[in-house]
Formats: sequence, structure tokens, C-alpha cells
Amino acid sequence: MGTFIRGVRPVEASSSTFDLRFDNRRIASVSDAEPQPGDTEVDARGKLAIAGFVNAHTHLAMVLFRGLADDVALQTWLEDYVWPIEQQLQPEDVYWCTMLAIAEGIRSGTTTFIDMYFHNDQVARAVEESGVRALLGYGMIASSLQKNGTSELAKTEAFIRQWHGQADGRIQVSVSPHAVYTCCEDVIRAGVEMAHKYGTTLHTHVAETRSEVEDWKAQTGTSPVKYLLDLEAFSVPTLAAHCVHVDTDDIAILADHPVIVAHCPKSNAKLGSGIAPVPQMQQAGVHVALGTDGAASNNRLDMLEEMRAAWLLQRAKHENSALLSSQLVVSMAVYPARHLLGLPREGLEKGAPADLVLFDTDRIHTTPSHDPSAMLAYAANSSDVTDVYVDGKALLQNGELRTIDEERVKSEVRRLLHRIKNR
Ligand SMILES: [Zn+2]
Repeated sequence: MGTFIRGVRPVEASSSTFDLRFDNRRIASVSDAEPQPGDTEVDARGKLAIAGFVNAHTHLAMVLFRGLADDVALQTWLEDYVWPIEQQLQPEDVYWCTMLAIAEGIRSGTTTFIDMYFHNDQVARAVEESGVRALLGYGMIASSLQKNGTSELAKTEAFIRQWHGQADGRIQVSVSPHAVYTCCEDVIRAGVEMAHKYGTTLHTHVAETRSEVEDWKAQTGTSPVKYLLDLEAFSVPTLAAHCVHVDTDDIAILADHPVIVAHCPKSNAKLGSGIAPVPQMQQAGVHVALGTDGAASNNRLDMLEEMRAAWLLQRAKHENSALLSSQLVVSMAVYPARHLLGLPREGLEKGAPADLVLFDTDRIHTTPSHDPSAMLAYAANSSDVTDVYVDGKALLQNGELRTIDEERVKSEVRRLLHRIKNR
């Protein structure tokens, strides 16, 4: 028994449509698909299709901090607002917050999340139950091996052993030192060894702010990117979040190694961090994906908004109306980070995992549509997402979430915030 989807119009195609059939968890046929007895039939005529957005860098549970003191200085925000609440978070709290974040992601067309946080068993539980894909990491923070580095590494290893490859392979685990300035050399080196041992990836924040890079250079004489290279971090596939303040030498290093940069334009803008040199990185051959970062610094987990921010900021910065075409922006949101999760480069192909997102294009704000990728990148919004499938399973159907009870999730998150604030 499978799912037969009639009249899919992939965003890459200017006009052609085709039928698609899922058999179990894979795309069984494309173009020449025929419905089989017992198939569920879906009419997708008039809808636009993608293989699903990959949110390449986020901290899902930080939806809890959405709208909390948005207009204060970064250090005040962290020290007076975020950290005091984070210290009180119970594992179950992280589960509910992660569920809320996943629901928002599904509703805006995201099938896959690359996350870094703590209480990761609860993050993994939310991913398993909601049906999405995720590359999850425990954000290690350690000033020395002796102090807490050994225990941080042990937490990472336990998480890999328990969850890497679970939920039919929908969950992958990365080794995730938070950043070079929060993790000592020994912990990063040991983390790289662990990634080799388990055949996993590395995920870390890199060169997010100007002061971080200047301080690091003053302290070590080298840039964060060069430092990571010297620690052989890039000997495993690496996700480098942000890379806002990278120079030509850094960009050459990123291009020469299996690194995916997660560009988070809204977060970088909101926190006043700057605008990453995306065109320069892409011209040098760096693979640049898109991520929202946590909702605390965004405040949404909406990849459509992220595409629009990436596009507008580069054009404004460079005073160039030809930078970042709509095809390029859509492809950044869908493809570059897929292989970190073992997904094939191509999306809607026979044999690929049965992941699919459908957009209703019969809306005021998407009429007329001259070019599907321009419509999606520059005009569509999350309310246009009607259906989301991951691994052949419907997570959103005709605008209804199928695996998450969103009223329950909202009320649990409100309840836990009330508990924390009234302690
Ligand atoms: Zn981050």
C-alpha cells in the first residue's frame, strides 16, 4: 500500500507536471507512476512541490525565548534573561518546546532540522514521535578536559550510541562542540576522533561576530577557521554555522574541505552580527545552506522568511540586483545540507526517501506566477504549505498536523513558562 500523488509540479520545472508514487518509505516511481490497488490518492494538481526544506542550523527548544527581551544588548539578554531560564529547564520542558518548534517547521515546509541543544534524549524523542528528520547534537561547552570536557564528551558518546541511526534512520547524531571559544582544543580534538570512530559529522558555530574573531586572533594568532583546520576538524564532514566574519583565506579553506556553511541571515541581522559573504563563498566553491538559528534570535523557524532575508540582505549590501537568483536561494534552502544526513543530492527522484512538501499556489499573493522558484522564494508564505510527507508518512495533510497535537503542545509550553517564571 502506497501513496499516489497526482499532478506534482516541481519548483525546478517551469511548466511540466508529473505523478509520483510512494511505496512504503521511498519514491517508487516518477512520471510513469500508476496508482496501485489500495493506494491513498492525493490530488496535487495546481500545487508546487519541493523535497522539503532543511533547516541547517537551529536550537529548536529555544522557541521558549521567542519575543523575550528582543531589544536589549546581547550580553544583557543572555545573562539576565536566557541563561537563568535555561538553567531551570527540565528534560520534559525541552521535549515540549522542541515539539512546538517542529510543528512550526512542518507548517512552513521544513522536513529536516539540524539542531544543537541539551537534554538531547527529549529532542530525539520529539523528532521520533513527530516523524521529521534531524541531525542532532549535544552542544559541548568545556574549558578543559579535566574540568568538564571528559563528561561533555561522554554525554556526546552516549547520545550517539543511543540515537544515531534510530527512527528508521531519520535521526542522525553529530558531534557538536559549541564553538572554538567555548570548547578547549583537547575537547575539539577528541570530538573529531569520536566523529571518525562513529562515522558521524561535526557541527559547530564559526566566526559569528566580529569581536569573537578579533579576540580569537589576538589570543591565538589565527582565525577560528584556520584553527579548526589545524585541529583537523575538517577531516570529517562539518557543518559550520554562521561564518559571517571570514576572510579570503578562510573561504579558501572552507571550499577545500567537506564543509557546509549554515547561513543564518535573520539571526545575524537581529543580533547585529553582520551579513555573511555568501556570494564570495559560493564563487569560491563553498556549499552554503540556510538555517534559522534558534527562535530566540530570529524569531521564527520559517525557511521561506530565511530565503527572503538571504536574498534581500545580499542585494542591499552589495547594491546589486542580480545577486542570489531565486533558483539559487531555493536550492540553498533544500539541497546542500542533505548529504550530512545521508540523503541523496537529488530530491524528487526514484529511489529517494519519500519526502515531499506541497504549496498551494492559488493565492492572491502568488498570482500571477511567472516563475515557480521566484514565486516560492520571494512571494510565498507558510500558510501556503498544505501537505508535508517525510519517509512516506503524512505529517501535514490539507493544512492539518497529523502527528502533533498543536493545542496540547501550545498549552504545555505556556504552562512550563508560567512555572519557571513563578518559581
Ligand atoms: Zn546557533
